Amino acid sequence: MFNQTKKLQIAMLVGLALLMVASAQVYFYFKKAPSKNFPENLKYSQSLSEERRPLPNPKDQSWTVKIPILMYHHIGELPPKASQMREDLTVSANDFEEQVKWLKDSGYTSIHLNDILLYSQGEFTMPKKSVVFTFDDGYDDVFINTIPILKKYGFNGTFGIITQYPKTVSSDSFYASWEDIAAAYQAGNEIVCHTQNHFDGLETKYTPEYIFQNLSGCQLDIKNHLGIAEPIMIYPYGRYNASYIKQANRTGIIMGVTVHEGDIINLDNLMEIPRVRVHGHQNFEKFKLLVAK
Ligand SMILES: [Zn+2]
Repeated sequence: MFNQTKKLQIAMLVGLALLMVASAQVYFYFKKAPSKNFPENLKYSQSLSEERRPLPNPKDQSWTVKIPILMYHHIGELPPKASQMREDLTVSANDFEEQVKWLKDSGYTSIHLNDILLYSQGEFTMPKKSVVFTFDDGYDDVFINTIPILKKYGFNGTFGIITQYPKTVSSDSFYASWEDIAAAYQAGNEIVCHTQNHFDGLETKYTPEYIFQNLSGCQLDIKNHLGIAEPIMIYPYGRYNASYIKQANRTGIIMGVTVHEGDIINLDNLMEIPRVRVHGHQNFEKFKLLVAK
């Protein structure tokens, strides 16, 4: 009798243990499923319809989406005795408006970098023809000249700020104040980190710890002035490597924008986003080809 009871107790315990193991497996399977099956996960998103889903690149099976992310620096008049480099970095307000108007007439919608991030997570419906306007360095001519033009055509832009530079002057460049940056942000533009001091990420004197501190500081500066910092940065000079990306990720940054030429965004590689550079005196026909190719 005693043996019978004990056997029954052991059997019940074993049964209970098996049940616990099985339910834990079921729980963890469902818990892990969405992030593990990331690309497939997009299929189940409510916000993405079939035709809007990016198609897998047949070459590497990664998930891509075509978006020209236009890269600008200065918009406006050239200073006297401008260097060749400054000329290349400066697009006149007239040329800029011509480009913006053409994009509007061609059916483009401007989106933010953060929208691409959300799209990669299945949380943003991508317009059929999207464009991103990025402006590096935070020069005051950009805030003065582009915002009214963008607004006129129902667009807005993304500004990469060197967070220790607002309201300073360097040779022939003036940097916008935090008041101007905050006003642009309030008006619906996007503000992202372009480091605290525009250091060259590939110079060996900048240690991993320096990179971490600088990028953390950059994010904190933006947060202090705007109340929020997106997990996005633009690399100064497009200079970065795997170690740099590691430090950026440590600060919470999960999207990095480069100067690699291109408009195919690989959603599996958001730390190496390519752009389309717009040069000063850009031939308009060439601009159209660059964007719409
Ligand atoms: Zn820059």
